[in-house]
Amino acid sequence: DSQPPVATKRVLLAAPRGYCAGVDRAVIAVEKALELHGAPVYVRKEIVHNKYVVETLAERGAIFVNDTDEVPEGARVVFSAHGVSPAVVAAAKERNLDTIDATCPLVTKVHKEAVRFAKDDYDILLIGHTGHEEVEGTAGEAPDHIQIVNSPDDVDNVVVRDPDKVVWISQTTLSVDETMETVNRLRTKFPTLQNPPSDDICYATQNRQVAVKKLAPHCDVVLVVGSRNSSNSVRLTEVALDAGARASYLIDYAKEIDSAWFDGATTVGISSGASVPEILVQDVLKYLAEQGFGEIEEVRTATEDLMFSLPRELRADLKKAG
Ligand code: SF4
Repeated sequence: DSQPPVATKRVLLAAPRGYCAGVDRAVIAVEKALELHGAPVYVRKEIVHNKYVVETLAERGAIFVNDTDEVPEGARVVFSAHGVSPAVVAAAKERNLDTIDATCPLVTKVHKEAVRFAKDDYDILLIGHTGHEEVEGTAGEAPDHIQIVNSPDDVDNVVVRDPDKVVWISQTTLSVDETMETVNRLRTKFPTLQNPPSDDICYATQNRQVAVKKLAPHCDVVLVVGSRNSSNSVRLTEVALDAGARASYLIDYAKEIDSAWFDGATTVGISSGASVPEILVQDVLKYLAEQGFGEIEEVRTATEDLMFSLPRELRADLKKAG
């Protein structure tokens, strides 16, 4: 027989992937608010950075707004998982809004660090992406003390009052490796630079990156399910490329996949960002099975069982409702 053997096509499926505890809690918060109070429920910004989640909740009666001034006086508004600055909380109060704060507790933790170091009059270097909602919220806790450092190259522009009283903190959804590069450059400039009391890049971001790092060297292509504005999802495509995947694509839905991406490929890696429901990954797996990638091997690097209780305001309302 002169036929060459056909290479087995397979999928390496990252685990953990998809929903983290903070996203799960924020999405349930909007669902519960709709159940308890009926539509509409206003949500400031996208509750989590995922198109499908936002569209599904909008169909059920959530109204997404850019800021509290678009919410009618006295109405109910949910703050997104990314957190808000004190100025936003004050503006909501001014309009008599009934607020439900779905800020992820791990973002709140970073806010508290910012407040504490500002109180001690540190110069705070917030490593993160200018314009990202989480960074706006954290920076808003101490605008006079915080400056944002976007990347390792940004370090050259940092000027502080006292080089011996500087601390760095970070956005929760960054690349672990790039952040360390930024910190190393900062430390060369400010040798006594203080670390945050604990990791600001959250467990979910870290775990998803570790899993992708492990599978990417064995993959021709890595698909990451997630939205463009999802920081942790975008980071996963970068991690895949850094770890040796030939190509990596970010997709919201299976229908965005171009079969040409798999020309000559035998192994496809798959992961999904922390704001992505598993149903979207299953759709991608179905599509890949149709393309001959039917064999699925899970690459698990951690197990997660963290859960957060619902926002305080909702727990109180649920209790009242019996
Ligand atoms: Fe919280 Fe991390 Fe999830 Fe963001 S990615 S909501 S910080 S657990």
